Amino acid sequence: MAIVAIIGRPNVGKSTLFNRLTQSRRAIVDDLPGVTRDRLYADVEWQGRHFFLMDTAGIMSDARDGVEAEVQEQVKLAINESDLVVLLCDVRSGLHPEEKEIVREIRRVEKPLIVAVNKVDGPRQEELVGEFYELGVEEVIPLSAIHGHGVEDLLDRIVDKLPIRKEPPVDLSIQDNTDIIRMAVVGRPNVGKSQFVNCLLGMPRMVVSDMPGTTRDAVDVELEYKRRRFVLVDTAGIRRRARIKEKLEKICVVKSLESIDKSDIAVILIDATEGPTDQDLHIGGYIQRRYKGCIIGVNKWDLIQSDKREAHRVIEDVRRRFQFLPFAPVVPMSALTGQNVRKVLKLALEVFDQYSTRIGTGVLNRVFRSILEKHHPPQRGGRPLKFYYVTQPSTRPPTFVLFCNRPDDIHFSYERYLVNQFRSAFQLSQSPVRLIFRGRS
Ligand code: GDP
Ligand code: GDP
Repeated sequence: MAIVAIIGRPNVGKSTLFNRLTQSRRAIVDDLPGVTRDRLYADVEWQGRHFFLMDTAGIMSDARDGVEAEVQEQVKLAINESDLVVLLCDVRSGLHPEEKEIVREIRRVEKPLIVAVNKVDGPRQEELVGEFYELGVEEVIPLSAIHGHGVEDLLDRIVDKLPIRKEPPVDLSIQDNTDIIRMAVVGRPNVGKSQFVNCLLGMPRMVVSDMPGTTRDAVDVELEYKRRRFVLVDTAGIRRRARIKEKLEKICVVKSLESIDKSDIAVILIDATEGPTDQDLHIGGYIQRRYKGCIIGVNKWDLIQSDKREAHRVIEDVRRRFQFLPFAPVVPMSALTGQNVRKVLKLALEVFDQYSTRIGTGVLNRVFRSILEKHHPPQRGGRPLKFYYVTQPSTRPPTFVLFCNRPDDIHFSYERYLVNQFRSAFQLSQSPVRLIFRGRS
């Protein structure tokens, strides 16, 4: 998914615009749980296109070197990490020389750029917008983040200019590439992602080849394990980010989300010495809502394993806090010593095979009947809830459409019952299962 960065001098209204864009009536925003406190990214859909919106404000909250350094840092980030930059200016403070400099820099790297001028709250400010054409851009979008004028124009422009990502190059030697297991390694800075990737790539007898990625400098790496093919997505990102990670926790999370979208299975690494953090849970929540397979690696296990009680407590804590991903195996591991690193691949195979499950319609409906009989759908408002039949239109994730008389009245707890029953009936204990309830048309 493309990343759009909003940059600009302090106080031009970046955060206000960010909030406005993500709340706009027609924009569908997939807010990550718990991010409201500190919302620096959001997944926005506008006119059927999806993108991540990133507010670079506050990224350098520890910057002591003044405004210029902060803005420079934003520009660098935007250039390195985004696909499109929105430079926000403030009509009330007028054009600033620094903004000319920013435009030059972004031009130099040929990054798509949109210039928007904020705080155009009325006709008086509209007259002043002309000044911003000195930036040499074709179009300047006037808006008022506070009142909302012009915000939809900006969204229109963003989706117009979003680069269409090229599909991965087709490797003609692959007849059936559906069996390639696409795996993302995600997690906070310093949990050991690059160590893990390097450990995998360095394993004896591991066949490894680099494939040019689809975006920017992303490089995917292909591995062969037990005669099955894996692709580790965005490994270049992991290795490069290792160098600049300290300040960039938020960016790292956005990139993790992006890699999750490109994969079947996400390996989320947790630092055993810290336990799961809020950021880890955000990432987990995203994996859940995208219905991806998941393995939770509790890394740096070597540092705590000698303390049996602590080790036990950490695993329990991880299981409890990730209980919304009940299907995700939890593996204690060490990317440093290699402990259980192969096990992650082995589990990935199992998860993937479950994730790819297809069930014949006959069996599916027979089992479904018995699931319903074991525990009848609860009545609601005196009216019975009736199921007619079930189909599996797709897999990865295994997706079932359940036809019934009142699809909107299915209680959450009954849905959970059904999911659990499907899991145990069809050996899907390690895979997400997606249920869709439909009325019979
Ligand atoms: P940031 O530092 O770029 O993130 O800027 P903020 O979003 O924190 O906004 C800075 C100030 O500008 C706040 O006091 C906002 O209320 C104000 N502001 C933001 N958008 C507008 C606008 O459209 N019109 C006016 N008049 N003020 C705005
Ligand atoms: P990344 O930011 O997630 O890519 O993390 P790195 O792979 O760069 O690892 C961060 C630091 O943790 C490095 O100093 C690693 O050597 C160390 N590290 C990574 N995995 C382990 C592990 O399993 N055990 C121990 N003790 N240290 C580890």
